This record gives sequence, C-alpha cells and structure tokens, in this order.
Amino acid sequence: MNKPTLTLHNTRTNQTEEFHPRDPKKVGVYTCGPTVYAYPHIGNMRAYIFADTLRRVLEFMKFPVQHVMNITDVGHLTDDADDGQDKLEVGAKKEGLTVWQVAEKYTKFFFEETASLNIKKPHVVCKATDYIAEQISMVEALEKNGFTYVTSDGVYFDTAKFPRYADFARLDVKGLEAGSRIEMGEKRNKTDFALWKFSQPEDKRAMEWDAPWGRGFPGWHIECSAMASHFLGKQFDIHTGGVDHIPIHHTNEIAQSECATGCSPFANVWMHSEFLILDDGAKKMSKSLGNIITVRELAQEGIPPLAFRYLCLTTHYRKQLQFSKEGLKAALRAYERLNHLREKLTESAKPVAASGFQKRAQEYAEKLLQAMATDLNTAQVLANLWLMLDDENVSDGEKLTLIDQHNEILGLSGESQWTAAEIPAEVTQLMSDRTKYRTEKNWAMADKVRDRLAELGYEVADSPNGPVAQKIVLK
Ligand code: AMP
Ligand code: ZN
Repeated sequence: MNKPTLTLHNTRTNQTEEFHPRDPKKVGVYTCGPTVYAYPHIGNMRAYIFADTLRRVLEFMKFPVQHVMNITDVGHLTDDADDGQDKLEVGAKKEGLTVWQVAEKYTKFFFEETASLNIKKPHVVCKATDYIAEQISMVEALEKNGFTYVTSDGVYFDTAKFPRYADFARLDVKGLEAGSRIEMGEKRNKTDFALWKFSQPEDKRAMEWDAPWGRGFPGWHIECSAMASHFLGKQFDIHTGGVDHIPIHHTNEIAQSECATGCSPFANVWMHSEFLILDDGAKKMSKSLGNIITVRELAQEGIPPLAFRYLCLTTHYRKQLQFSKEGLKAALRAYERLNHLREKLTESAKPVAASGFQKRAQEYAEKLLQAMATDLNTAQVLANLWLMLDDENVSDGEKLTLIDQHNEILGLSGESQWTAAEIPAEVTQLMSDRTKYRTEKNWAMADKVRDRLAELGYEVADSPNGPVAQKIVLK
C-alpha cells in the first residue's frame, strides 16, 4: 500500500504542513494535561480524544511515539494569568480536603473517564509537584540569561526582552497595552508573567517550596516547559493543547523555553483543538462556569462513552463542536449500527487478511489512511467507512477487517463501559433507596445498601450532579 505523507495543521506557522520528525527513532509529543481541582468534563475529554487520535495516527503510520502529559496540581491561578488564587488551594478549602487529596481524587476520576473513552494513557504522566527542582532550574537559567526581574510578589519574565513574544499567537500587544483589563501590579509590561510566585503569609498555602528567590510556588506555564524539555529534550516534535492555550499558556511556554535554552523552535508543530460548545447560546462548557457534564453521567443516560467518542470524531478537531441532545442521539444510533453490522458480519464471515484484499477493499484501506493523514480528517474517515459498508464490491470478510482497522485508528474498538442498559434494575432501585436513607440520616440502612451494591459488583461514585452506581473494576 502507498504510505501517504502525514500533514498536520501547525498553529506556529498557520499552515498545514508535511510532518517530518526531528529524529526518526523518537517522535516526541507533549500534551497539556488537566488541572485536577474539579471534575473533568466532556469538553476536556474532546481535547484528549484529539490528542489520542493524533497518537493513534502516528502509531498507525509506524512513527515511534513518546507521548508525555502533565498533571497540573499546583500553580494554575483562577484567572489563567497571575492574579487570583491557586485553583487547587481553592478546591481544597471548598471540599474540606487537603490539596493532595483533591489532586488525587480528580486525577483518578480523569483517568477513569479517559480509559472509558479508549484514550491511551501517555507513556509518561508527570505531576507538576514532582518536578519543582526542574522548574526552579529553568527559572535560574532565565535569570542567568537576563530575562527575569523580581517584584514583591514573585519572579517575572520580561516579555519586552523577547521580541518574538507576540508572533506565535499573532497578539496585538499594542492593543493590550492600550486596554486596561490587565492588572499591572509591579509588572513592567502587560504581557509579563510569573515564573515563581512568593507565598503570602495570609494565604496559608499547603503547597510551597524553597527557592533561591524566596519560599513559594511555580507559575503555571513553567511546569510544561520544564517537564517537556526534561522528557523530550530542548526541542521536540509536536505540542498539543486546546485553543484557549494559544494566547497565554503556549505563548509563555515558548518565550520561557526558548530564552532558557537558546534553542528555537521549542516544538516544531503546535496543534490545538477547538471547544465543545453548548447549544444553549453557544456557551463553552467549563469547570469555572459550572455547566459541566461528565462521561459517566452520559452513560447513566444510556450514552456509552464510545458513542460520545464517535460524536467527537464526526467534527474536525479544528472546528467547534456544537453539543446537543439530537447530535448525541444521532452519534449513538450510528455507533450502535456499526457495532450491530459488525456483529452480523462475524456470524457469516471470517476476517480477510489485509494482504489478501481485492482492489476495492484495498482502495478503502488507502482512503482510510489518506484521510487520517490529512490533518486527522476523522469526519471523512467515518463517511468512507459507511460508503464501504454499503459497497457490494467489498466482501463480508474484507468488511470485517476494514471495520476493525477503522475502529482501531479511531479508538472505537471494544466494549463501552458504564452503559445504563447494563445496570440491573436492582442496582438502580438500591441507588434510590440509598438516597432516601441518607436524607433520613438512616446511616445503618444506607450502609446496608452500599454492602448489597458491593455484592452485586457496584460501588457508589461521586459525580458533579450527584452519586452514580459504577461497576467495581478489579485492578
Ligand atoms: P483544564 O483542566 O481546565 O486545564 O483543561 C484541560 C484541557 O481541556 C485543555 O486542553 C483545555 O483547552 C481543554 N478544554 C477546556 N474546556 C473545553 C471545552 N469546553 N471544549 C474543549 N476543550 C476544552
Ligand atoms: Zn501546558
């Protein structure tokens, strides 16, 4: 089969370009991971389905991928810039937990959700709090190279010393300077950002470390620069994130990485996925707006996680995904129909090895790869898949193999977990009994219900809109 050339849209150059790895033996991919202070929602999951799709295409095309993702468990402030409070510290106070417990709770939840969506775990998952020394070293390098200054509240990056600062996001810095929205404090320029923040006595922070400039904690951006270069080198191939990262987080990552190491570009290709938007007035789904839905909640309503993945794949990652009940139902129908067709084919045929494909099947296999290799055109892949299934010139055995190839590259193989249909009536009844007993403060009966649920193989899990029953997975 002809191997197509992979093309990817690069935010840095604003072009869709051929992908050529720096080193054919290792393709480094870094993904900005979740901030673990609240439940991750289906919008967040869209960003990770995109990163996973990229990884699958690279692997399918035999690139030896090394995928690294961070977990932000410190330093992400409530306004994304340098004001407000640390999201983790706020979360801990709200929930009566320690910051470490908050991070652990939501990290666990995050990986359960991603697993249900067939999102492969990155080869390296690194927590910001485990790499404080690397972050301090990078700030020291920036200081040595003359890019920093110290104020009463932290160490800042002086963006005026990096003339290319605005290039990546095509920022209108003059417009920013004229506007009054950004709090200057002691900053020299509006775009300057914190590399290290000092703990203020009134904050009573649980997470703080000693550094040459004073006790405190890292700014949000420095963790990604420090960990990406620690695992992938001063320069690497692909960096992914959501579009919201372009003007601040990634612009700052580039400035501090390139000024600390003297190497440019930090990442060759920068890829960004668009938002999932709610249909009630085009509002973004976000943790801070409080309008979130999780994958397991969808499952409670009868939408298997992989049907949600299917929905995400119907829209190109660079387009906004308008999330609606109708759209979701259509995706569910298509996903179920695909599974049903596959099931029927297994009754009548045996998969034909790809090496034995006739001309037409061969063409569909090439189309699959061609569409994926064209900036991850998953919508086109799904369209081709349905054409193939209707094509009488493809045998049932070839269809079986082609479905499996499509499912593998799209991440749709295997059974979806958490499907409401799988939850027995007794479990649903027990869940409502449990709610009743808990409102009556009848803890003894509530505990009995919990024990009975465990006998049936279920546990009660938290979710943003109330408890849900979940199958106990033995690890
Ligand atoms: P956070 O945990 O808030 O740092 O976000 C994790 C990832 O989810 C980032 O890549 C964001 O860009 C992305 N993200 C946040 N909200 C949405 C949304 N509504 N739709 C798609 N991606 C989102
Ligand atoms: Zn990041």
